[in-house]
Amino acid sequence: MDVVHDIIAWKRDGHELDDERMHAFVRGVVDGSVAPYQASALLMAIVLRGLSEGETVSLARAMVTTGKTLDLSLIRRPVLDKHSSGGVGDKVTLVLAPLVAACGAVFGKMSGRGLGHTGGTLDKLESVPGFRVQLSQGDFIRQLERIGVAVVSQSERIVPADKILYALRDVTATVDERGLIAASIMAKKVASGTSAVALDIKVGAGAFMRTLDEARELGRLCAAVGDAFGRPVKCVFTAMESPLGRAVGNRLEVEEAWAVLNGSGPDDVRTVALELAGVLLSLSDQHIDEEEGRRRAAVALDDGAAAAHFDRWCLVQGGRWRPGEFHRLAAAEVRASRSGVLARVDAFAVGRAAQLSGAGRQRTDDAVDPAAGVVLSCAVGDTVESGRLLATVFARDAARRQAGRVVLAEAFTIVDEAPARTPIVLGRS
Ligand code: URA
Repeated sequence: MDVVHDIIAWKRDGHELDDERMHAFVRGVVDGSVAPYQASALLMAIVLRGLSEGETVSLARAMVTTGKTLDLSLIRRPVLDKHSSGGVGDKVTLVLAPLVAACGAVFGKMSGRGLGHTGGTLDKLESVPGFRVQLSQGDFIRQLERIGVAVVSQSERIVPADKILYALRDVTATVDERGLIAASIMAKKVASGTSAVALDIKVGAGAFMRTLDEARELGRLCAAVGDAFGRPVKCVFTAMESPLGRAVGNRLEVEEAWAVLNGSGPDDVRTVALELAGVLLSLSDQHIDEEEGRRRAAVALDDGAAAAHFDRWCLVQGGRWRPGEFHRLAAAEVRASRSGVLARVDAFAVGRAAQLSGAGRQRTDDAVDPAAGVVLSCAVGDTVESGRLLATVFARDAARRQAGRVVLAEAFTIVDEAPARTPIVLGRS
């Protein structure tokens, strides 16, 4: 029997994986000596048996040490990052990155692309003509020193184990294990040199975590990994039943982020951005508490400082951004089939409609259409008359418009009685 076989059997039988076994497994995944079917078997054993806190830290450590790590210590201030566990219409990074920099802190992020019904920050940034997301390590560091903000694509050499394991998890029904998720998220943060992290953990039908308790447990595991590496982690738990804001689709979301950066835009996007800005500013400077951080960030949104910083950031990364100059694609509308109160806008259906319109990808190598997507015209709690416009799909051709419209039409639930209001921020830790 070989070592990998024994490791799989050990976990299958309910034992903990120690550092040595975990490292042997992850090293084998990266150097190819562990076959994909063996890795898949261990992943399934992990999902069935669960990962303890110790195993989660051990997995993250093995993932970090089997790849390259970035040293950002040349930047003499803490380099902050934010991670969202994924949601529809989540354009918060586009607001938060320049906002935090406008408040004097440093925001550096290595980001990924969108897959499936949720969009990725890189796709949103690249919808600004000319915006470059591939920067050398040296340029990334120089830009952080110069303007305090940079968002770039994740280097292939950082945590190579995650790419291999995530692809396997995706096709073997082994994504949904909290320890695996925490190790995957935090290994990438640690390896990319982040000093402190704010996690926006989404809760609800449109998210990985369906309940606040599950989300808190994920947050606890991420914080445990952060502690092990001396990288403080704070969590904000936010609702993801409905899309965040009104726009879903790359350039449409940049336009909405621009509105928020100018002190307007949807309240929920502003609230989440301010909440996370408060957390990050408090992590950056021990003399600032979260409330004071939120206050400073609100001022920067309202006095134009955050918008000016966004402009500068775009320019430095090559983006040619002129608000209001983008033309809209042809539209298809969804209208209310009855009068009543809008009780629910299904985030998953809206995300899927945007994906079908061309804004998302089905496979990792698909191209996305920067201008495609969905704009909602109503929010949960609004009273609507029969025939009122609920949402619009923008797509390049009639087939995509129609495919998006059919799915979008199922996203809205209209009832007689107004539903109870739920806050967007559900908790903190
Ligand atoms: N996001 C990640 O980076 N990894 C996961 O496993 C899940 C969400």
